[in-house]
Formats: sequence, C-alpha cells, structure tokens
Amino acid sequence: MQLPANEIFDNPDCIKCARCVEPRIIMNDILQELKSIVGERASASPSERCCYASDASQIAGLPDFVVRPMNTKEVSLILRLCHDQIIPITARGAGTGLAGGCSPVKGGIVLDMSGMNRILEIDIENQLVIVEPGVVAEKLNSALKPHGLFFPPDPGSMAMCTIGGMISYNSSGMRSVKYGTVRNYVLDLEVVLADGQVIHTGRKVLKSSAGYDLTRLFVGSEGTLGIITRAGLKIAPLPKTRKLVLAFFDEAETAGQAVIRVFSRGITPSACEILDKTTLQVLKLCDPMLAIAEEGDLILFEVDGTEGSTNEAAIQIFETCQPLARSVRIVTGQQMQDIWAARRLVGAAISRLDPKKTRIYMGEDVGVPIKKIPALIKKVQQIAAKIDIPAMKYGHIGDGNLHVALFIDVMDDEQWNKLFLAADKIHRAALELGGTVSSEHGIGLARAEYLPEQMGLEAFSVMQSIKNALDPQGILNPGKMGL
Ligand SMILES: Cc1cc2nc3c(=O)[nH]c(=O)nc-3n(C[C@H](O)[C@H](O)[C@H](O)COP(=O)(O)OP(=O)(O)OC[C@H]3O[C@@H](n4cnc5c(N)ncnc54)[C@H](O)[C@@H]3O)c2cc1C
Repeated sequence: MQLPANEIFDNPDCIKCARCVEPRIIMNDILQELKSIVGERASASPSERCCYASDASQIAGLPDFVVRPMNTKEVSLILRLCHDQIIPITARGAGTGLAGGCSPVKGGIVLDMSGMNRILEIDIENQLVIVEPGVVAEKLNSALKPHGLFFPPDPGSMAMCTIGGMISYNSSGMRSVKYGTVRNYVLDLEVVLADGQVIHTGRKVLKSSAGYDLTRLFVGSEGTLGIITRAGLKIAPLPKTRKLVLAFFDEAETAGQAVIRVFSRGITPSACEILDKTTLQVLKLCDPMLAIAEEGDLILFEVDGTEGSTNEAAIQIFETCQPLARSVRIVTGQQMQDIWAARRLVGAAISRLDPKKTRIYMGEDVGVPIKKIPALIKKVQQIAAKIDIPAMKYGHIGDGNLHVALFIDVMDDEQWNKLFLAADKIHRAALELGGTVSSEHGIGLARAEYLPEQMGLEAFSVMQSIKNALDPQGILNPGKMGL
C-alpha cells in the first residue's frame, strides 16, 4: 500500500525518526522507473523506508525509496536515473556503521547492496579474491579457512558488516596493528560513477606504479564518489599459532606506558587491545563463565606465527609488562577464544552495567600517535570526571585507537548535553595531541564538522574539488564528510 506523504508521517505504525520531520512527496513516476530496472526490489513502503533510516548510530533520515540491485548493470541504470533527475542516492551495506554514513539524511534512494553478495573467485595461486560488495566479512573468512587463508581486517562487527561498507570506511580492527587496514588489501575496484559509467581502478596485480592511485581514492570515500560493485582483495596465509598475554594494571595510564615499552622493544603483536576496569566488568557480565578472576585495567597482547616465534614474543611481552603490571599471564586455546568472543561484545553490551542507560556512539573512535596514548587516556579521564559522565575506555590501543563509550539515560536532556560536550572535548583533545577524530569508524555526519580542522582548509578544499569533479550534481551520499 502506498500512502501520500502526509499520511506516512501521521501513520501511527511508522516509527518517526528524530530527523524525519520534512514531508516528501512520493514521486510515483520515479518509483515506476526504478521498478522498470529492478522490479519489485524497488519500494516506497513506509515500513521499509523506516527500516532503512539509520545505521547503528543515532543519525537518521527517511529515504523516499529503498532499492535492492543484484548486479552492476542495475546499479549503473539506477545511477543514470538519479543523475538525470538529481535524486540523492546513499549506498548501504549492512548498516552497522557508527557515523551515520548510510543514513539518507537528504532523502532520495537508499541503495541496499547486501544482495550483491557472491564470492566470485578464490585465486589461491595469486593470493587474491574477487567479491561483490555485499559479502559479509566473516562469510569470506569461512570460505577462505579451508584453504589456510584469511582476509585480515577484523572489525568487531565482522559477523555482520559487508566488504563494501568496510572498503568505504577503510575499516580495521583487532589485528590491524600487525596486518594493516582494509586499504592495504584492496587491489582493484569496479565502481559505478555518479553518471552511471562503470570503471575499474586497478588490476589483478600485487603492485602497480601506473597512474593515479584511484583504488585508494575510493577506499574510505564513504559512498560519496561512486558505488563499489566489485572488489579484488589481497588475502594472507592463516598463522599457525596464536597466544594471548593478559597484563593487568592499577591505572589505565600505566597500561598505556606498557604498550609503548612493548613497541619500543621492536615487538609487533598481532593484536593489542585495552579494556579498562569498567570494560573488564562488562566483559565478565557478557560471559560469567569467563576465566578472568583478576581486576584492573587490562591489556590483551596477542602474538601469532609459528610455535617458536609466538613463544618468544609472548615471553618478551610478559617480561616487558611485569615491572609495571599488577599481574601478567599467558593463555592459549579455548580460553583465549572465549576472551576474544567476549571482547567482541563489549561495545554493545555496556548497557548491562545499567539497564536505564544507553551507549551513544559519539567521540568513540579517536586515535593518536602511540607515544601520546597515556596523555589521551589521562585527558579522557579528566574530561569525564569534570563533566561527570561515565566513560568506559577500550579499543585497539596498539594502533593508538581508543574507543570511549559514553552512556546516558536518553530520556534525560541534561545527560544529552553532557554527552555532546564530552564528545566534543574528546575529539578536540585527539586533534590537539596530533591525532584523528576517527581511526576506523569514519566521518559520515557524526564527525563532519571536525574534518576541515583535521585536514587543514587547503587539503579539505582539494577533497571538495575531487568530489565536484566526480559528482558535480552532489547526488552521492549528500551531506556526508562535510562535502
Ligand atoms: C558492534 C560493532 C562493532 C564494530 N567494530 C568495528 C571495528 O572493530 N572496526 C571498524 O572499523 N568498525 C567497526 N564497527 C563499525 C562498522 O561495523 C564498520 O564500519 C563496517 O565496515 C561497516 O560496514 P557495513 O556493511 O555495515 O556498512 P554501512 O554502515 O552500511 O555503510 C558504511 C559506509 O559505506 C558506504 N557503502 C556501503 N556499501 C557501499 C558500496 N557498495 N559502495 C559505496 N559505498 C558503500 C555507505 O554509504 C556508508 O557511507 C563496528 C560496529 C558495530 C555495530
């Protein structure tokens, strides 16, 4: 059933999102044109539009249409239509983003890419795969495992998020400290440009010095320059062994110092995560059977490789941490896997601490040079204490990346004000320490105001010129990244 615009907004079945206040006229003829391309996979039903209003952040906007393409030709025809009619179009993978990247804040079309989810080729000799953008990261890794291979970028959301979303945010995760971010693995992209043209940015080779690096231009572009319809990705051999060193500290700042000492000794762990005292509490609530009796601020150092090399590195980390730590121990096997499984849940499970409070993803992804980690931790603690807001700290500290989890009672306006203030101060603290407002979650709308300051106005205007050249009508994910 289609409803006229006003009825949609007055419809009690429609969950009104905070930002969905501008009624739009449903453009029936556009819907018919979309249906001529993808059939019933184009929809303007109020319930579907509401389902596609936001990602995992609090940023929302109601789309006019939801369209689910199944191949590059359909994407190309849809973009040509958008280009001719000047319709905003926002690509969506799994919607697990935390910056409002796929939230259609200017309405128009949400292009749900999750149906384009085929693994087209596993090329073992060349150590690469060709995939469609809707492939979920964990599914790719399940397909690679029998070959002794894996796709290393490892976000906490890997059971849900898509390769297209990961490329568009240059995502990373627990193991990027050793293996790098998505950017290090993308060899070639098939991209549909704003006017519907289809291009390839690279070739099936591990290196090339031919021309501008268009592949890297599209990595991290958050759907503002084109729609990715296919990706050639480098893959890596699975390590033979992994070991986990658990080091508990009295203070988070001291934990940060231990990280610096480990890296200064030339040891590269395959993961290096901080979980502060509150996070450790959440970790235990996530899995009450978890075999961690200790308290304190915890650093998880994982090492991988051969039996001999992991032993040696684990012992070196143990010895480096011991003088600073309250206690240190090494775990392997099932215990290690249980700890990692619980670690993946902490960000979302924080509400277990207080069911009346919700975690809001703001100021949650700052990053600084490794040497500045203790200073960042101290600064975040001071900000939280001064504003009087609970702030749990965890994250990929080996990359200098700290996830600050601010949680509030969302019915309390005063707590919202505290949250906005704390998030702003955390972003500014990271910039002052020479860091970034986002290490991996992206800019989207959530952090758009800080980008010109982080990049510098001149560099930001180069970015704007690239956007204008590739998308002169501004139809691709408008409003994002401050463009
Ligand atoms: C519990 C949890 C844990 C997380 N942990 C991590 C983590 O450890 N590391 C990390 O980096 N992130 C993490 N994230 C954030 C998020 O999961 C990642 O950013 C992820 O890569 C987003 O993928 P997605 O498929 O959900 O993309 P979406 O949210 O759907 O989209 C993300 C962006 O990509 C664009 N896009 C999507 N597909 C395409 C395409 N085909 N062409 C062009 N543009 C496209 C969208 O327009 C949007 O701008 C976490 C999120 C949650 C909820």
